[in-house]
Formats: sequence, structure tokens, C-alpha cells
Amino acid sequence: MAFFSKQPAEPIPDVETKVWACSSEGCSCWMRADFSLQKEPQCPICKSSMNEEIRMLPELKS
Ligand SMILES: [Zn+2]
Repeated sequence: MAFFSKQPAEPIPDVETKVWACSSEGCSCWMRADFSLQKEPQCPICKSSMNEEIRMLPELKS
């Protein structure tokens, strides 16, 4: 890189992350699959079923 950036820290890279997304139209609830204990969780807001998706999300450092 030619310039030092003004960003305070290294940017967190986005990684492909498995998530559960609510299947209900108008409900944008989703959760990381890693954080869900159930195999097929229900939406905590509207109780609809949730679909497995891959989203680009900032990597979680453990
Ligand atoms: Zn929902």
C-alpha cells in the first residue's frame, strides 16, 4: 500500500458464514448458525421457519 490509512485498526475480513434467515416476508431477522443450538431454529421474533443461507460477515475471532 502506498499510503497509511486513517483506519484505526486492521479491517476485519468478511468470510462466508452460515446463517439462519427468517423465511417470513418483511421480517429481516437472522442469526449466525454457530450461535444457534437448534438444528432448525424458529425465528425468535415471528416464529416462522428459518432458511439456511451463506452471508459474507466479519470474521469472528475466538
Ligand atoms: Zn421472523
